[in-house]
Amino acid sequence: MDVYGLVGNPVGHSVSPPMHEAAYEELGMDASYVAFEPPVEEIRQAIGGAQTLGIAGLNVTIPFKQDVLELVEPGELAERIGAVNTIEFRTEGAPRGYNTDAAGVTRAFEHHDVDLDGRKAVVVGAGGAGRAAAFALSDAGAEVHIANRTVDRAIDLASDVSDGTGGSLDTLDSQIGDASVLVNATSVGMESDETPVPADYLHSDLTVLDAVYAPLETRLLREANEAGATTIDGAWMLLFQGVEAFEQWTNREAPVDVMNRALRNALDTPE
Ligand code: NAP
Repeated sequence: MDVYGLVGNPVGHSVSPPMHEAAYEELGMDASYVAFEPPVEEIRQAIGGAQTLGIAGLNVTIPFKQDVLELVEPGELAERIGAVNTIEFRTEGAPRGYNTDAAGVTRAFEHHDVDLDGRKAVVVGAGGAGRAAAFALSDAGAEVHIANRTVDRAIDLASDVSDGTGGSLDTLDSQIGDASVLVNATSVGMESDETPVPADYLHSDLTVLDAVYAPLETRLLREANEAGATTIDGAWMLLFQGVEAFEQWTNREAPVDVMNRALRNALDTPE
C-alpha cells in the first residue's frame, strides 16, 4: 500500500484525507492518506521519519510550509514562493518539494473559464497564500498588485514577482477599480463575518476568489455576488492544490469531480 498524508499542527479539521481517499477509491488504488500532527519543533524528525518509513508523499500545512523548504530539494516555483506544501519522497536522494497552492489558484480560475493573461489582478494578503497567489497570477500573465496590512511585506512580494506593485490597504479602492481579478489571501473572514475589502469597492467586472473556505460563502463573496461579480470559493483552490499534488505523486489524471464532491461533503459536515 502507498501511504500519503498531511503534516501540520493542528490538522484535526483537515478535509484532505476524505478528498484524496475518494480519488484512491475511484481509481482502485491501494493507497491511504493520513493526517499527522508532529510537535511544532520536531518537523525535521517527522520528515526524516516519513522518508525512512517509505511514505510516498506528504502535504504540508500551517505552521510548517516555510520550515520544510530547508528539508527538501525544492522545485523552482516552491523556491520562488518560499514555501512547500507538497513533498514527494524518492527511493534515492532528497525528497522533492513543490508548491501546489499556486496551481490551486490558477486551476481554480481556469476551471471557471477566467483568462488571466493581460488582466489586472489585486491580491490582498502577502503571507503564504498571498505569495502563492501572486506568483501564480503573475506567471499566468496577469499584472499583479499586492495590498497588505503590513505594507513592507506587500512591497517585498511585489519586487519578487514580475510586473508587480505593492501597497497598503488604503489604496485598495482605486486598485480594485480597474482590476478584473481579486483574490483574498488574508485570513480575514475565516470563521467570522468580516471582510478585508469594503463592499463599495466591488464591481460587476470582477472575478473574486476567496482563499478562505470556512465558511464557504464568506462575507466578501456574498457582497461580491451582490455587486454582480463572479465568485469562486476557497474550496476550489483547496481542491486544485490537492488535484495537483495527486497528479504530481501518481502521474495519473486526478478524478476531479469525485474529489470535489468528497471535499464539499467534508466541508459541509459539522463536527
Ligand atoms: P499567513 O501566512 O499567516 O498570512 C496571513 C495574511 O493575512 C497576512 O497577509 C496578514 O497580514 C493578513 N491578515 C491577518 N489578519 C488580518 C487583519 N485583521 N486585517 C488585514 N490583514 C490581515 O496565512 P496564509 O497561510 O497565507 O493563509 C491565509 C488564508 O488563506 C487562511 O484563511 C488560510 O486558511 C487560507 N488558505 C487557503 C488555501 C486554499 O487552498 N483554499 C490555501 C492556503 C491558505 P500581515 O502581513 O499584515 O500580518
